[in-house]
Amino acid sequence: MIGAGGLGATLLPSLAAAGIGSITIVDGDRVEQSNLGRQNIFRERDIGRQKALVAKEFLHDLNPHISVTAVERAFNAGDAGLVAAADIVCEGSDSLANKFLVNDLALRANRPAFIAALGKDQGHAMFIHQSDSACYRCVFDEIDASVLPTCAGEGILSTFPAVVSASVAHALVSHLLTPLDAGTLWVFEKNHCRNIQIKKRKGCDRHP
Ligand SMILES: [Zn+2]
Repeated sequence: MIGAGGLGATLLPSLAAAGIGSITIVDGDRVEQSNLGRQNIFRERDIGRQKALVAKEFLHDLNPHISVTAVERAFNAGDAGLVAAADIVCEGSDSLANKFLVNDLALRANRPAFIAALGKDQGHAMFIHQSDSACYRCVFDEIDASVLPTCAGEGILSTFPAVVSASVAHALVSHLLTPLDAGTLWVFEKNHCRNIQIKKRKGCDRHP
């Protein structure tokens, strides 16, 4: 799980409770007061502590029978080994660059990945797997993240991240039982969600 913020903090308990036996959490941020309204695994007493570590402790209390590893730093291009070592990768950090990076590393290592993003009024999640189906770059162009509004600047309704992360958790656990179609994109708007099957884009150069 890359990111233990709005998406990760609400997704992780579902995975641990479902008995997913080995979870690695990568996040370099610390808990802030403003997180507490929507990242419900964190408490007042956790303010200032590393999110990855607090998340690990929470999951261990929830399910002591699983193994949880905290990586207390930001995900980066040197983390190809972490991606290759995972059975499934989830990207839910606040870094746009990470979403494209996870896309590329997961395709290269042939690992399934859920890549999710949130804005004030819209969120999305995409499931990618294998180079013969659509990837994140088949849908989105990598742009300079500094031109985009941020949740910190725009605000976000506190309940919205959990809507997206519950759907990702459900899709992920379902995938363990019956493999999902790669190239599925879920789009969340104020009061509804739709899912779209994306075709591989001609000219996308990330498919080996
Ligand atoms: Zn592509």
